[in-house]
Amino acid sequence: LAAGKYGPERPGRVIAHYGRTLDVQGDADEATVRCHLRANLEGLVTGDRVIWRATYDDEGNAVEGVVVARSERQNVLERPDPRGQLKPVAANIDQILIVFAVEPVPHPNLIDRYLVAAEATGIAPALVLNKIDLLPTDGGELRDLLARYEALGYPVVTTTTARDDGLDALLERLSGRTSVFVGQSGVGKSSLIDRLLPDESLRIGELSKDSRKGTHTTTTARLYRLPAADDAELIDSPGIREFGLVHLDEQQVAKGFIEFRDLLGRCRFRDCRHRQEPGCALLLAVERGDIHPQRFASYRHIVDSLSET
Ligand code: GDP
Ligand code: ZN
Repeated sequence: LAAGKYGPERPGRVIAHYGRTLDVQGDADEATVRCHLRANLEGLVTGDRVIWRATYDDEGNAVEGVVVARSERQNVLERPDPRGQLKPVAANIDQILIVFAVEPVPHPNLIDRYLVAAEATGIAPALVLNKIDLLPTDGGELRDLLARYEALGYPVVTTTTARDDGLDALLERLSGRTSVFVGQSGVGKSSLIDRLLPDESLRIGELSKDSRKGTHTTTTARLYRLPAADDAELIDSPGIREFGLVHLDEQQVAKGFIEFRDLLGRCRFRDCRHRQEPGCALLLAVERGDIHPQRFASYRHIVDSLSET
C-alpha cells in the first residue's frame, strides 16, 4: 500500500469523539486511531459501530483514518443540550447501572425516576447499591427495598469500595456487556470507576493536550475496556452520569413502571389518568396488592413533577 493511501474498509467502534474528530478502535485492534468523518456523515457518538479506513506506516500500523459509514444503532442515550434539545451522547449500550448508596439514604422516588428514564431508552437497567460497608447490621428496610426491585425482575448488586472483594458482584455484572453508570451525586460513582480503571493513563493518557483544547472534553463520553472483567466496556462522561433527569411525558412514565405495562390498556376509560377514575386497572391492582403502594406513589409523584417544569 502506498504511503498516505487509505486501506480497505474495516469495522470498528467509536471510542471517543471531539466534534468531527473521532478515536476509532478496529474490532481486532488494541490501539485507537484518530479519524475524521467523511463529509456526508453527521452526529456520530461514542459507542457507535462504524466502517472506517486507515492509512498505514511501513510496519503496518494504522496512522490515521476516515470513518465512511455508521452501522445501525441498537440504542442511543440522549441528553438535553444547553438549549434543552435532546442530543445523542452514546450508542450501543447493554445496560444502565443505576447507582445508589446506603448513604445518602436512597429515596425510592429517585430510584424509580432513573428506572423510568432507563426504560424509555430501551436499555436494560440494573441497580447497584454502594457503600454496603455502612449498612447497619439489621439493614432490613434497605434489603426489603432491594428485594422488591428484584421481584420486578431488575438485577441488583451490592458493592463497597472499602474492601478488596467489594466489587466482585459488580465485575460479574459488567462482564460481557457495555455499561454506563448513572446516579445521584455522592453515591460513589467516581470511586467505583476509579477502582475499575485504576490505571490513570488508561483513562486520560490517550488524549493529547491538543485534542482537548477548545473542545468540550468534560462532556465528551469515552469508552473504556475494563481490565478486571471479561469483555467489559464502560462508557462514561459527566453528562452520562447525570442521565435520568430528562423530561418524559406521562405515558412514558406509566410505561416505565414495568409492572403497569400489561394493565395500561385495561382501564375502563381509554384516557384514564389513573387518579380516581372508576374501573382503573392500576388502582385495582394497588388494592389487590399486585402493585406496591410505594411504586404507585412514586408514579404519581413523577407525573405530578412533570407539570412543574
Ligand atoms: P459520586 O458523586 O457518585 O461520583 O461519588 P464519589 O465517588 O465522589 O463518592 C462520594 C463519597 O462517598 C466520597 O467521600 C467517597 O470516598 C465515598 N465512598 C465511595 N464509595 C464508598 C463506599 O463503598 N463506602 C464508603 N463508606 N464510602 C464510599
Ligand atoms: Zn387507570
